[in-house]
Amino acid sequence: MSSPAAQAPAVAATDRRKVVIIGSGFGGLFAAQRLAKADVDVTLIAKTTHHLFQPMLYQVATGIVAEGEIAPATRVVLRKQKNTSVLMGDVFDIDLEAKTVSSRLLERITVTPYDDLIVAAGADQSYFGNDHFAEYAPGMKTIDHALELRGRILGAFEQAELSHDPAERAKLLTFVVVGAGPTGVELAGQIAEMSDKTLKGAFRNIDPTEARVILLDAAPAVLPPFGPKLGGKAAARLEKMGVEIQLNAMVVDVDYDGLVVKEKDGTTRRIESQCKVWSAGVQASPLGQQLAEQSGVELDRAGRVKVGPDLTIPGHPEVFVVGDMMAVDGVPGVAQGAIQGGRYAADAIKAELKGQTPDQRKPFSYWDKGSMATISRYSAVMQVPVPGFKKPFETEGYFAWLGWLALHLVYLVGFRNRLNTLINWFFAFTTRGRSQLAVTEQQVYARTAIGQLSALEKQAAEGNGSGPDAEAAETDSGTVDSKATDASGSVPTEGKDAVGKESEAAS
Ligand SMILES: Cc1cc2nc3c(=O)[nH]c(=O)nc-3n(C[C@H](O)[C@H](O)[C@H](O)COP(=O)(O)OP(=O)(O)OC[C@H]3O[C@@H](n4cnc5c(N)ncnc54)[C@H](O)[C@@H]3O)c2cc1C
Repeated sequence: MSSPAAQAPAVAATDRRKVVIIGSGFGGLFAAQRLAKADVDVTLIAKTTHHLFQPMLYQVATGIVAEGEIAPATRVVLRKQKNTSVLMGDVFDIDLEAKTVSSRLLERITVTPYDDLIVAAGADQSYFGNDHFAEYAPGMKTIDHALELRGRILGAFEQAELSHDPAERAKLLTFVVVGAGPTGVELAGQIAEMSDKTLKGAFRNIDPTEARVILLDAAPAVLPPFGPKLGGKAAARLEKMGVEIQLNAMVVDVDYDGLVVKEKDGTTRRIESQCKVWSAGVQASPLGQQLAEQSGVELDRAGRVKVGPDLTIPGHPEVFVVGDMMAVDGVPGVAQGAIQGGRYAADAIKAELKGQTPDQRKPFSYWDKGSMATISRYSAVMQVPVPGFKKPFETEGYFAWLGWLALHLVYLVGFRNRLNTLINWFFAFTTRGRSQLAVTEQQVYARTAIGQLSALEKQAAEGNGSGPDAEAAETDSGTVDSKATDASGSVPTEGKDAVGKESEAAS
């Protein structure tokens, strides 16, 4: 495919003020919605077509809800908002001087001019400099991740059913979740429930209830932000469900068959495990680095932008950074931080239309509405600050769980999604059944195959002679990896083993 020259977006030009929003997550979508009636042209650019409700990703990964229920199409959500256009594209350049944003969709480059820019591109999983872990331990940030993980979990049970080797079976039935924050706790709890309840009796040669679920973390506590009391309760509940908790355990290597853990005393040990998932640490979007290079704004260790009190960057009162990309004291990387940041930026733009100048802006102030994490059916922890009291209100168990359900329903976008989710929850929590246990081969190893394809393309572009075509799909020894080729048409040379093994996991 030839690459056409960069072009302006196919959006009717008006002489109204142009607001560009990068990202359709909580920050981006809520900013756009806040501008619904403003006399501006809004262009929302995101690399996915959906708004993703990340807090329920683990329920997609464990078969409770379908992906569509937590990821409505952004343009459909915004269809009645006539001043707003939605563009799909991966933003690769922000030019602060020219006031343009460049995005790419396949080979097509679009350059979108702005008067005001809201950057809400979120964060990715951080492997703390060990990016190669990602191949064997996917994160939990996208729909692709959740579907891949669902395939890996169910694929491991399928392989174990066929295995005659006790050691291999044990490896296949050992699930390791790295990171004991809310996502890790929720995932470990659900994998344990799925093995113990949903899959019980569904296999003939293995007993799924014997699966080991290990939750490990380099930190000394479960759910550290919730404090020792709630963290301890969550740990006790998980242990009652059979989850093994291993703390002060730092992962130093991950491979196809397991991982290596370093203890506090410096000794290392290996855990044999086919299915690993990474939920430790985040790294803000690399777009923050671009803003830093051009404006001199500082980034923190996680790559978040240290914005000013009005969430803008130095010398650019027209550029807001919100959500997981912003570093503001006292504002955690949670949905409410992003929602409130996005709305604040939209309000500042609207105020300017009425004549307010940037120096008249009131500083952003965060309203902490509390935190929650579910552990299992009927069990969650909840922490809510109480005005006038130093200590927050804390509770755990059934009422916290009901609170979690209610709150997540409120913030799910779309009435139909709420209704479907409610029905699925009713089914899952009363019968222990899960309606979303389908897995396809592509879900499990498309990510790996795409990664290898990109590596090949890069190699070809660098003039090494191998491209992502059928010719290049030959291995070093001149044979074609049929499994890889079956999956995506024409995939890889190097990494044949990895792709081959991934496909085994899928089958
Ligand atoms: C598994 C999980 C569970 C969570 N659970 C909770 C919870 O229970 N409660 C809670 O409050 N918070 C929770 N969070 C955190 C919460 O989801 C985030 O804080 C929130 O989504 C941040 O919103 P955001 O808009 O900054 O980023 P995101 O929601 O991540 O959105 C980023 C958007 O930017 C787009 N994008 C990224 N890069 C580019 C680019 N280069 N070009 C174009 N578009 C781009 C993405 O496609 C996406 O649309 C959880 C997060 C995860 C991952």
